[in-house]
Amino acid sequence: MDKFQNLIAGQWTGSDDHLININPSDTNDIIGEYAKGTAAQASDAIEAAHQAFADWRHSSIQHRSDCLDAIGNEILARKDELGRLLAREEGKTLPEGIGEATRAGQIFKFFAGEALRIAGETLQSVRPGIDVEVFRQPVGPIAIITPWNFPIAIPAWKIAPALAFGNTVVFKPAELVPGSAWALAEIISRAGLPNGVFNMIIGEGAEIGEPLLHDQRIKAVSFTGSTKTGAIVAEACSGRNARYQLEMGGKNPLIVLNDCDLDNAVNCAIQGAYFSTGQRCTASSRLIVEAKIHDQFVEKVRLGIDDLIVDHALADGTQIGPVVDHAQLEKNLRYIEIGKGEGAQLLTGGETIERSTPGFFQKPALFVATDDTMRINREEIFGPVASVIKVDDFDQAIAVANNTSFGLSAGICTNSLRSASRFKSEIEAGMVMVNAPTAGVDYHVPFGGTKGSSFGPREQGGYAKDFYTVVKTAYTNP
Ligand code: NAD
Repeated sequence: MDKFQNLIAGQWTGSDDHLININPSDTNDIIGEYAKGTAAQASDAIEAAHQAFADWRHSSIQHRSDCLDAIGNEILARKDELGRLLAREEGKTLPEGIGEATRAGQIFKFFAGEALRIAGETLQSVRPGIDVEVFRQPVGPIAIITPWNFPIAIPAWKIAPALAFGNTVVFKPAELVPGSAWALAEIISRAGLPNGVFNMIIGEGAEIGEPLLHDQRIKAVSFTGSTKTGAIVAEACSGRNARYQLEMGGKNPLIVLNDCDLDNAVNCAIQGAYFSTGQRCTASSRLIVEAKIHDQFVEKVRLGIDDLIVDHALADGTQIGPVVDHAQLEKNLRYIEIGKGEGAQLLTGGETIERSTPGFFQKPALFVATDDTMRINREEIFGPVASVIKVDDFDQAIAVANNTSFGLSAGICTNSLRSASRFKSEIEAGMVMVNAPTAGVDYHVPFGGTKGSSFGPREQGGYAKDFYTVVKTAYTNP
């Protein structure tokens, strides 16, 4: 079996203990053994990033840009192979995997440009004869902690801006998907960065993630993952005044109004709720539907679900791959029982299904006759499970949509400009979609949420620099 090591101070470094990377479409298919870093190795990686920062912070923006461009070019050239690896270890379909790898390449190329565009301001002082400059500097060594559901795109959208603006990195990928992380690290290791500027260490959150949070040499933590872990990151970082940024869960609403284009609304619901097996923080898990169109909408979604092809992620024609692992499947099944116990009606799906390979396959589930007090509408399930909440009118739809602790993404299907405009203004979410699925975003504009979904400056696009740089104000009396 192939064995993969961690990247510390420019050296590939092994360990005695390994994580076994298993294909969720076929548990007989082992992708590889990945060295589980130790606490001592995490400290070595931090020290490497700390030492390398002294020079890298002064590196030329041309050099940084060239490195990021080379990484982006290689990812794009190898997108099919990387997409296949991603689909094999995470379970999203091959086209989704290739799409994600493509996005990772585009992100590196975008930040290759951003590295050249870092700018400041020159202002007049209120005191005669004094010049004022405002400029941005790198933050320092940054810990990047990522979840399993976007194994290459999320690392890319954190690592690329960190390096572009002169920071060094210790990257801890999710333990379920070390394959894509390793492949990305291997590409980065050949891009011309000095040793120690980029380090990767694989391991469990409690063993490898926690030391990164508490180490004084780490000046900032960029985290994406669950709300529960986000709270641990926040407590550790705020306790020692380290900068931190959290992207966490969602319970994203899709409002469907009577005046919508019904086929488009059904497509938005099915795409948003079930594609990528519903394992997207931006998935539409609450379908909030006006009464007059409710029955027609529900029937069309039910028919659409029954037509979906759930199978091995790499098989031709598969639309929905497996659930990522046994634990997540158990969680999804538990929520199906919770929903039924709360009085929701399970219209279709929810059960596990057999395919020709042993995998974690589940038929996408639709609950109807639900309300916004039910746990299935309040807690993030993170699987192919959605519920319909029937409402009387637009005002009730907005009230129900906002009745959540989350605020990541939200959508509306309507042909009314007035309703669309009110929705964009009144919905409590960081990303809002009109007549488009709640999941599916561009790589060159900000990404992030409100309320319990996010904390700190936005990720991606030009706004990423707000987290990855420190602003300094200089006064000069020439
Ligand atoms: P998770 O919180 O279990 O793990 C995320 C990362 O944190 C992993 O690398 C894990 O090893 C690490 N970790 C766990 N415990 C830690 C600790 N004590 N200290 C430091 N690090 C620790 O999340 P997950 O199950 O991998 O991902 C699913 C979650 O991610 C969902 O809630 C989903 O909504 C969220 N997510 C959010 C976004 C977003 O941008 N808002 C995007 C994708 C996923």
